Amino acid sequence: MRTKTLRDIPTPSLQGRRCVIRVDFNVPMTRDGQVADDTRIRAVVPTLDHLAAAGARVVILSHLGRPRATPDPLLSLRSVAEVLPNHCTAPVSFVPDTLGSEAIAAVGRLRDGELLVLENTRFLPGETENDPEVSAALGAYGDLFVQDAFGVAHRSHSSTVGAAQAIIDCGGEAVAGFLLETELRFLQDALTDPERPFVAILGGAKISGKIDVVEAFLGRVDRLLIGGAMANTFVRALGCQTGKSLIEEDRIDLARDLIERGGDKLLLPVDFRVAPKLVGDAAPRVARRDDIHADDIVGDIGPATEAIFAAEVSAARTVVWNGPMGVFEMPPFSSGTFAIAAASAGVATTGATVIVGGGDSAAAVVESGVADRISHISTGGGAVLELLAGAALPAVTVLSRSDSPVPSLGDAS
Ligand code: ADP
Ligand code: MG
Repeated sequence: MRTKTLRDIPTPSLQGRRCVIRVDFNVPMTRDGQVADDTRIRAVVPTLDHLAAAGARVVILSHLGRPRATPDPLLSLRSVAEVLPNHCTAPVSFVPDTLGSEAIAAVGRLRDGELLVLENTRFLPGETENDPEVSAALGAYGDLFVQDAFGVAHRSHSSTVGAAQAIIDCGGEAVAGFLLETELRFLQDALTDPERPFVAILGGAKISGKIDVVEAFLGRVDRLLIGGAMANTFVRALGCQTGKSLIEEDRIDLARDLIERGGDKLLLPVDFRVAPKLVGDAAPRVARRDDIHADDIVGDIGPATEAIFAAEVSAARTVVWNGPMGVFEMPPFSSGTFAIAAASAGVATTGATVIVGGGDSAAAVVESGVADRISHISTGGGAVLELLAGAALPAVTVLSRSDSPVPSLGDAS
């Protein structure tokens, strides 16, 4: 049995049908609350266009940022709804409400072929707990649920899992949208039986979530390269100092354990670029990992590490990369990340599969100018890591199943 997708839904049956779609409009915002990068918006336009063109009445759910179950004007989806008409041809409206009377009335007023963006789901108490009442209320907006938020497919929230289940329980269907379908096809193909050597690269600043998947990775990859702030925790586990660098004290023991279990599969940086402050005009010093001083802050991997990591990437046939090697947003600390980007693009050109996940990693690849040579830039970060770790994605397992072959859109319409 496979996951049902939007292709399984005959296009004529969408006419007048009330659809609830979960998308990932969690876009980077400027300080004054404007959309800074619309990549994630553009990624779901094919699904939205298809639904609207077929005459569906489309209720759009998304989260934005991390408000704590309370409204935050800077994290309103109004800004996203305002730019959506630049991409979609269908009429778009917005209500600053998700489950209240204003939202219910707006859903009721929707006409065939119209899109309605509801307010940030994370303003709702209960959303991230997959609260049954919140789930039922969101599910009541339609009888077809379309899941197209790959970036949060690893989360069991009301808008990702509960609402889909509620719609199925009421006799409706829950299917994968075009973006989710593409992401899954790509990642499952690449990761189920990867061509080897299989090299994973982990970095970035969100350490805790990522260090917890390292163990699962070690069982699947041939090499695991660690950079970014996560490397600092491992360097401390080796007994070296990391000065004033970003670190997670409570993961040092875990890191020590992973070093032991990882053996020569696990590659840590041998040197770093350090400075007293991570600023755009810093003049970093190259420090061996056992020569980091009390006032130093690690901003990037060093040149010797860069060469070792690039050689590993160049020898790989499958590469999965999540998390920049350093603070690539600042030129003095961008070298490590850009070196990995160049090596990844190079090996992809020889036919290797290179997958990059994570918002900042994708931005780094775009900035380094090699994006068009990368096999797949995923809209997911955490979801890619979960898949690579062998975990099921709850927002995918909840979807309806089918045992017939995947129809083409032509067959369906
Ligand atoms: P992604 O979005 O690709 O999943 P993360 O959000 O985990 O990646 O981390 C990206 C951020 O990590 C970048 O903004 C980068 O500046 C930061 N970063 C990378 N290395 C370091 C480091 N050594 N110290 C502090 N921040 C770092
Ligand atoms: Mg990030």
